[in-house]
Amino acid sequence: MTEPLLKVRDLVKHFSVRGGILGREVDRVHAVDGVSLELAAGETLGVVGESGCGKSTTGRCILRLIEPTAGEIWFEGKDVMAMGRGELAALRRDMQIIFQDPYASLNPRMTVGSIIGEALLIHNLTKTRHEFEDRIVELLETVGLNADHMRRYPHEFSGGQRQRIGIARALAVSPKLVVCDEPVSALDVSIQAQVINLLEDLQEKFSLTYMFIAHDLSVVEHISTRVAVMYLGRVVEIAPANELYTNPLHPYTEALLSAVPIPDPTVARKRIMLQGDVPSPINPPPGCHFHTRCPIKQMPLCGTERPELKQTKDGHWVSCHLRG
Ligand code: SF4
Repeated sequence: MTEPLLKVRDLVKHFSVRGGILGREVDRVHAVDGVSLELAAGETLGVVGESGCGKSTTGRCILRLIEPTAGEIWFEGKDVMAMGRGELAALRRDMQIIFQDPYASLNPRMTVGSIIGEALLIHNLTKTRHEFEDRIVELLETVGLNADHMRRYPHEFSGGQRQRIGIARALAVSPKLVVCDEPVSALDVSIQAQVINLLEDLQEKFSLTYMFIAHDLSVVEHISTRVAVMYLGRVVEIAPANELYTNPLHPYTEALLSAVPIPDPTVARKRIMLQGDVPSPINPPPGCHFHTRCPIKQMPLCGTERPELKQTKDGHWVSCHLRG
């Protein structure tokens, strides 16, 4: 079996909540609570869950844009957690991120050319001014923009165009892995499909591997090779995309899936309404984190023991005492 491009084991990220005059730690937000996953070269792993489930924090920890509290991250067999500043800087050529908000993620005082060219300069990837500008034009054209856009500023572009600039910036260093952190959530529905199609084309052209983060299953359905569902800092189910959409095992995945519209009006899907709110990640419930909202029959074990993520069949993993 070939070694995965990325391997994450028991990743944990807690944020301190500070209070009082001395700013002492009074609480901890359990944003990521033991996430394990792998990505094979060339695949897209969709990561889905409600706001606050830890999916974006997981993506940022993998790039070490924020420091994990614990866990292992291996990229091409190299221990990312053991890397010093220099090695991390080099790693950033291989791992890039596309941010959710194309309005906030581009510096309004920089021209599009400077935004895209920044990483070329940092990594010393072009030798002359001419080569530098040619590369920026090439990147702009790759994402469906053109040379005229180079000297303009972000505010002169629409949301979809800004996201294309963000994509060009990520591609500038020819990365292997791109974490797409809700790249279409802030865009109009009509533009979302265009950006997803562009990402698919780029994946094929440049053999990219994607971790594609989204808050609902309909967005990742067509782009994902496999899908991981997260709830309150944990992966509760992970499976090949087809398998997850046709045979979901975790009750939370079933509920998310019941909200995905079906294009065929003759097919009815019963909506599963979950009771209550997502509990606070400051004080997550013991045992199975989902037990306070789980609509299926529960066992006493659900409230006391964390269900392991177990493989039920080829590549289909679920974390549930009843269905694992
Ligand atoms: Fe529901 Fe129990 Fe399974 Fe958790 S472990 S999803 S509470 S049945």
